[in-house]
Amino acid sequence: MSTSSETLQPEPATSRLDLKETEVGSVFVSNYPPYSFWSEDDVSNALNALNSQPNPENTVGLYLHIPFCRKRCKFCYFRVYTDKNASQIERYLDRLAKEIELYSELSSVKGRPLKFIYFGGGTPSYISAKHLKKLVSRVKAVLPWESAEEVTFECEPGTLSQSKLEAIREVGVSRLSLGVENFSDFILKENGRAHLSKEIFEVMPWIEVLDFDQLNIDLISGMVGETWESWKDNVKRTIDMQPDSVTIYQMELPYNTVYTKQLFEGNGEIHVPNWQTKREWHDYAFEELASAGYEISSAYTMVKDKRSCQFVYRDSVWHGTDMLGTGVASFGHMSNVHMQNVASWNDYLEALDSGQLPLSRAFPISKEERLVREMILQLKLGRIETDYFKKKFDVEITEEFSVPYEKLRQEGLLTFDRDKVELTRAGLLRVDQLLPEFYHTKYRDSRYT
Ligand code: SF4
Repeated sequence: MSTSSETLQPEPATSRLDLKETEVGSVFVSNYPPYSFWSEDDVSNALNALNSQPNPENTVGLYLHIPFCRKRCKFCYFRVYTDKNASQIERYLDRLAKEIELYSELSSVKGRPLKFIYFGGGTPSYISAKHLKKLVSRVKAVLPWESAEEVTFECEPGTLSQSKLEAIREVGVSRLSLGVENFSDFILKENGRAHLSKEIFEVMPWIEVLDFDQLNIDLISGMVGETWESWKDNVKRTIDMQPDSVTIYQMELPYNTVYTKQLFEGNGEIHVPNWQTKREWHDYAFEELASAGYEISSAYTMVKDKRSCQFVYRDSVWHGTDMLGTGVASFGHMSNVHMQNVASWNDYLEALDSGQLPLSRAFPISKEERLVREMILQLKLGRIETDYFKKKFDVEITEEFSVPYEKLRQEGLLTFDRDKVELTRAGLLRVDQLLPEFYHTKYRDSRYT
């Protein structure tokens, strides 16, 4: 997965509650206000925030973007590179470390403990053990790495070896996230994944021996070629592996993917299951996981034990943490200002060559927007406590959002009372499609990215 949205085309941010077929356009809500409102003119606000003292009550984390993959999946719209050689990767990682060194000197960062560290991509496990160790030692030299409660590392099975996994564990990764997506070789090949099922089975014993605090397995409901039979097999095999956490995304067809280009060029038919089918598969997986003892942790994730199986990165971001977003096209946040890095390889490297932070656009977020942002992101947990918003924003959310809450209640998607707002199972399975209901009207009919 990746944080890059640069390659996306305009798409509506309006309610998509009535979506049936999987049409072109992304519905996944990762931030608010919509990215299309962030601007270059506000980069000065981002720099001001970075150069000022932070809110001492707020936490800060570090996101490192590793934008390399062995092969581009046909459904992928992220900014990834499949053609970089070892010396280009080394140069990128050197500039990434340099970016973190620049951040470490800023007033908003200096002396603050890190709450979490997240290696995302692309495919962080694409880089060699030697490169990883070098990068981490440079980060450790300037930031308090040891304070992090969680270090997550995204992996693609076919890029792992026993010795690379040992290096990943050795540098301090606590949460390993394995992009399995599917166990059928036919489906993996059809969707352009780089790995096959045998590579998944090969890495599991190595992972088990290394005893990471948490192993997460990612699946996608609705890949091209999926059937009820193959999906049931995916769920069974996942449960057999006994990961601590299972995350399920519903397949989309964003713009600028291999599949959407094929569609626009009239180059063969692509059948992505409709939303109802994807939700039924998602629901089936949740039911089976529940029978195996897993609990719901969010609309996407089930965990073996909710108390011991935290996801610090997700929960921090959804509760308004500050975050240094490092790497090409990464997103960050500091003291109520959203910011994003340049999305071009050359621009990123050149900015750092000249000692500049590679920021490209930003958005200072108002108190009202922070409230909406946290409310919609936390709604993805399936349940929110009204008291949290009363304390943090001095707002009764059931009054503030009474109209959309009531609308969604009448549709059987949500319930609420004085203390809490809860999604029904139907609401949980389509949460991203209902969140635009809460957007300010000025953001509703505009593109999201
Ligand atoms: S592994 Fe596939 S989906 Fe993930 S970032 Fe790489 S190309 Fe995209």
